[in-house]
Amino acid sequence: MIITDKRCWAEINLSQIIENYRIYKNQLPEKTKIMAVVKADAYGQGDAEIAEVLQKEGVTDFAVATLDEAVRLRTSGIQGQIFVLGYTPITQAQNLIEYDITQAVVDENHAKLLAKLGPRLKAVFALDTGMNRIGLDADYPDFCEEVIRKYSDKFCLQGIFTHLCTADSMDKEAVEFTNNQIKKFEKVAKRIEDLNLPYVHCLNSAGGLWNKCEKSVFARLGIILYGLKPSYQNQLPEGIKPALSWYSVVSMVKNLHSGETVGYGRTFKAEWEMKIATVCVGYADGYNRLLSNNFYVLINGKRAAVLGRVCMDQIMVDVSDILGVEMGTKVTLLGQDGDEIITADDMADAIGTIGYEIVCNISKRVERKYKYEYF
Ligand SMILES: *Cc1c(COP(=O)(O)O)cnc(C)c1O
Repeated sequence: MIITDKRCWAEINLSQIIENYRIYKNQLPEKTKIMAVVKADAYGQGDAEIAEVLQKEGVTDFAVATLDEAVRLRTSGIQGQIFVLGYTPITQAQNLIEYDITQAVVDENHAKLLAKLGPRLKAVFALDTGMNRIGLDADYPDFCEEVIRKYSDKFCLQGIFTHLCTADSMDKEAVEFTNNQIKKFEKVAKRIEDLNLPYVHCLNSAGGLWNKCEKSVFARLGIILYGLKPSYQNQLPEGIKPALSWYSVVSMVKNLHSGETVGYGRTFKAEWEMKIATVCVGYADGYNRLLSNNFYVLINGKRAAVLGRVCMDQIMVDVSDILGVEMGTKVTLLGQDGDEIITADDMADAIGTIGYEIVCNISKRVERKYKYEYF
């Protein structure tokens, strides 16, 4: 009998993250720098831990989604630029100055309020080039230029940025749309060139690989840093691999007789004698309930189908054809076991979402372990 002390845990291979970073960097033009996007706890994988190894690797610019995330990075010893990509309420903005954090300006209203904090506040204007999420409307370059100039000395203006919303797609229409977004961005960037702003950027992971922007000083590298695909159809450069694996253990094994059912709502019914194992993971750990009767785990190098509904804390899987399964046997939810591998992208594809959501949703209850072999 194998008894580990763990119930359900994730392992993050920090060396693989560095490897992914290096491979990605090699694909970029020499002059394009990388801003590491470590928002949402580095896509569920540990922001402080990952930012620290990237900082040792020479990365000086980091992006997060919220002020809290930014403050955590700063207090954990990250020294370079920390950029908040999303909205920060003005009532919190004093902390931006206190922790030397750079704030995205979502529109002119936001600019007006942020300007009250004066010239020590570092800010970067968002431009909306077609996503319709945040930013000054780049369909009106005159207006963008006017607002940018107006605020260029009200706070410490550092740059402008935009976000591409179809850079992961190779469809003709999507490619045209992306090119158009980049053109709109470059147009505004050119008009304010005399301001010599250091932070002008528009490329996400996908954009950095498959698009070009003369004006983009940075690629904001998110998902590919973690070894996942922007979109399931994408081919990633050779050697880029998922950094996160996710494991659990079997708690018990039992025989199921023909006609018996499994789990809530009795959604799986055995048609012959089966052997099933109960595994210590559920939707409260982030194992999506849509995986019910719809996915598989790996045990002893073989696939075991999820039977019945995913419970809050447990799932049942089919181990009829797998030998040597008992209490304590390791179960791979994401990662490699023998010749089989499950990626977050595969799991996402099974339930109509994206790998981003799978890894972000692995809950706090799942302990993170870090592997660091070299750097
Ligand atoms: C999340 C995010 C990124 C990173 O996107 P990936 O697709 O993960 O590379 C870049 N820029 C902005 C504004 C973002 O919100």
